[in-house]
Amino acid sequence: MSITTQFTIHEAHHLLSTKQISSLELTKSALERIQQVDPKIHALITVTADVALQQAQRADQLIAAGEIKALTGIPGIIKDNMCTRGIKTTCSSRMLENFVPPYDATVIERLNDSGMVMVGKANMDEFAMGSSTENSAFFTTRNPWDLERVPGGSSGGSAASVAAGEAVYALGSDTGGSIRQPAGFCSITGLKPTYGRVSRYGLVAFASSLDQIGPLTQDVIDCALVMNCIAGHDRRDSTSAPQDTPDYTKCLSPDLRGLRIGIPREYFVEGMQPEVKYAVEAAIKKIGELGAGIDWEVSLSHTPLALAVYYIIAPSEASANLARYDGVKYGFAYKEAKSMWDAMEKTRQFGFGPEVKRRIMLGTYALSAGYYDAYYLKAQKVRTLIRQEFDRAFTKYDALITPTSPTVPFRIGEKVDNPVQMYLSDVCTLPINIAGVPAISIPAGFAGGLPIGLQIIGKPFSEETLFKIAYAFQEATDWHKKKPPI
Ligand code: GLN
Repeated sequence: MSITTQFTIHEAHHLLSTKQISSLELTKSALERIQQVDPKIHALITVTADVALQQAQRADQLIAAGEIKALTGIPGIIKDNMCTRGIKTTCSSRMLENFVPPYDATVIERLNDSGMVMVGKANMDEFAMGSSTENSAFFTTRNPWDLERVPGGSSGGSAASVAAGEAVYALGSDTGGSIRQPAGFCSITGLKPTYGRVSRYGLVAFASSLDQIGPLTQDVIDCALVMNCIAGHDRRDSTSAPQDTPDYTKCLSPDLRGLRIGIPREYFVEGMQPEVKYAVEAAIKKIGELGAGIDWEVSLSHTPLALAVYYIIAPSEASANLARYDGVKYGFAYKEAKSMWDAMEKTRQFGFGPEVKRRIMLGTYALSAGYYDAYYLKAQKVRTLIRQEFDRAFTKYDALITPTSPTVPFRIGEKVDNPVQMYLSDVCTLPINIAGVPAISIPAGFAGGLPIGLQIIGKPFSEETLFKIAYAFQEATDWHKKKPPI
């Protein structure tokens, strides 16, 4: 067992600040663990060993000078769609295979200011389009709980790396479930913050009105600590909220008295695995025992529309965002073309994988003059209805609880030929991005040795309430302490 698999951020921080361990030791142990398990898990596209060792040395100097912050000296992994200056940022696409950004994303700047140690960049579905990492142009990541199964996606590399102890924590991005679903599949904690809470500057855009960066961690305290570092206003992201951020660790308490929680029945979808339903219901009962008032009879009747709305809006925004990959400015460029148009066409033909092309075509179609009103405009209107329904629910409830995913992790290859089946694996997470509200996934049990996630949804900017409920549940259970056999 390596050091990184043993310690959470808060535990490692304690050991570093009391000088029982150095950042260099911690970092070397993470790099060793990567060498040992990544050939089986395939979570990382780039291992940044040299950078990590330098950062660890600097962290040890900071610690010696008494300048330790919560994340100083602790190894983390970054999804490969966040720009890292001087380090390849591929988005798991041939298009960006050799792209080395000249700048850092805001989240990376903030982590660096906190003395982070980055040990690697994580595999993902190409341009974050997918639910299993099978859409990576390079390789599929494996679930540490069962190597024949997917780790979820699109932040599957980030989630698998934390579950397998390759780093203490990771960052992912979530457009329709890409942090929470892999967190659920790998039995770790993952938060999609409120839209606008974390800067998107330097995040490679998929669907700009839905994308958010968030933490993937071993427990709720760690999740709050990472949010303390990355959340907050950024003038370089015009959609970033100008609100102050609280200290997210202040709200963690095991007493849930006074909280009202609703259980929306539409999230217990047809085709859901019975074991998932039982585990989620048992977890909700536990949360009730901890003092929260539970209303089992809530209905969010627009929920079934969310999938259709998402698969109009996300591809539409993607088709606009991905228009920039033309072989002229950066990324892959097809060199032997006969004309400018030929160059653009071939660059996109060879640079993008099939799922990305499918999304671009769907989006371009939905936005075209003849279909705009019927598809895009209609989807925007239904989006408003979905958001209003959440607003109404949150006048009565402090939070809503649902499964993170209707099933346990599926087998590699099981859904690749059926995009609609694949899209269905996000039915419980998509509505949250459509409404722009925050949600956290925490470990809530196992079925046949495979993880089950619980999703807690809150009103805009109520991450503290989510942390509070998640923390109380975690204190009363030990699902989050279970580690995969690898
Ligand atoms: N699985 C969803 C999709 O393919 C969500 C992905 C995400 O959140 N980035 O669009």
